[in-house]
Amino acid sequence: TVKTRFAPSPTGDLHIGGARTALYSWLHARKEGGTFLLRIEDTDRERSTQASLDAILEGMAWLGLDYDEGPIFQTDRFDRYAEVIQQLMDSGHAYYCYCSREELDAMREKQWANKEKPRYDGRCRHRTEPVAGVEPVIRFRNPDEGDVVIKDLVKGDIVINNRELDDLVIARSDGTPTYNLTVVVDDIDMGMTHVIRGDDHINNTPRQINIMEALGATIPAFAHVPMILGDDGKRLSKRHGAVGVMHYRDAGYLPEAVINYLIRLGWSHGDQEVFTMEEMLKYFKLSDINGAASTFNTEKLNWMNQQYFKSLPAETIAGHLQWHIEKQGLDISKGPSLTDVIEGQRDRAKNLVDFVESSRYFFEDFDSYDEKAQKKQFKAGVDATLQFIHDKLSALPEWNPEAIDAVIKASCEELELGMGKVGPPLRLAVAGTPMSPSLDVTLNLVGRERTLARIEKAIA
Ligand code: GLU
Repeated sequence: TVKTRFAPSPTGDLHIGGARTALYSWLHARKEGGTFLLRIEDTDRERSTQASLDAILEGMAWLGLDYDEGPIFQTDRFDRYAEVIQQLMDSGHAYYCYCSREELDAMREKQWANKEKPRYDGRCRHRTEPVAGVEPVIRFRNPDEGDVVIKDLVKGDIVINNRELDDLVIARSDGTPTYNLTVVVDDIDMGMTHVIRGDDHINNTPRQINIMEALGATIPAFAHVPMILGDDGKRLSKRHGAVGVMHYRDAGYLPEAVINYLIRLGWSHGDQEVFTMEEMLKYFKLSDINGAASTFNTEKLNWMNQQYFKSLPAETIAGHLQWHIEKQGLDISKGPSLTDVIEGQRDRAKNLVDFVESSRYFFEDFDSYDEKAQKKQFKAGVDATLQFIHDKLSALPEWNPEAIDAVIKASCEELELGMGKVGPPLRLAVAGTPMSPSLDVTLNLVGRERTLARIEKAIA
């Protein structure tokens, strides 16, 4: 059965590109009824941080990318890596290299001068005696002949001749394993059937395949996912603005929208843009991932976010909204139910931060009005109008949108005023802003007591 992994190094935020790779791995495992594993590649202890690990775990959880195994930490597996290195030594697939930095530099200088590609020439392969005072590294003995074929599901077959590759260091002089060794050991031990990762790793793949073969392992399928570019055509990075996934939560995006945006950023199914999770699982195929880089487009992400505001169940949005409401210090218990507010505001919503900002008046009173609207709406005569409606509203036997609507219409008629003269000042008095859902919905959600008190305050 299918088994995939996401294998981030905890040396920074969960990048939007990493999140997309994780999503593709997750989708492939989920759609095939397979297993998805999270592996933390933390062998670089100097650059690995707890903050970064937290951001990765938080980001995965926020996006809903759950894993069946892990997190597994490579730093817990040093014994196993040492064992495999020894195995490669014993089988003659690896050897000690005593070359000093100076010797390696001189070798490369010479190759450079001869217009050859700089590569380690294997001079320690046949050394039988140790060099006194030198702690050796261990190199993998790469085959000299033949081709390595990467059967890449995204890019097609990639053929590399072994003459292009040299003998890779698999253990440093202090005995610690290098990246290409740990990845290989883990991908074999953990039974990966598909290695899905960024195409910045494509140069490592033939080397890893050779090590896997030396260990007699089955070679997994590979899918190298192209990178994401910023709008200037350069690789997406901090220069283009925020690239960490948690930034998108903080900025008020819905994770469902981010997931949909990310799947489309590099994969398509006809010209469909919005997919339910069921559809993603049904249609997603590794081989349909676009082989070329894609460009990040904030406007499209914003558009996607709005689609999800319109279509997600109010309960789902409420879960995300609650976090933002608490973050902005609003007391939910002082207002209407979140799902009712969502139904009232969802068509207008751009993001959850803006949503909370434009919903404040449902939860707390305000001290001032929108300035421009105040000048325009609170003119001579408006007090009498508001007082008239106030009295009718206070006499209403029940408080619901239909009853409120009837009062407003009847007031217009009795006062012989158009809706344009009644609605805007009433809305401003009750919401403090000219932007709110329809009046009946707004007043209903604000509640009778608050509505009446706010009208009184506007008149006073
Ligand atoms: N740890 C590597 C990275 O974060 C990924 C290795 C892999 O997926 O094979 O770039």
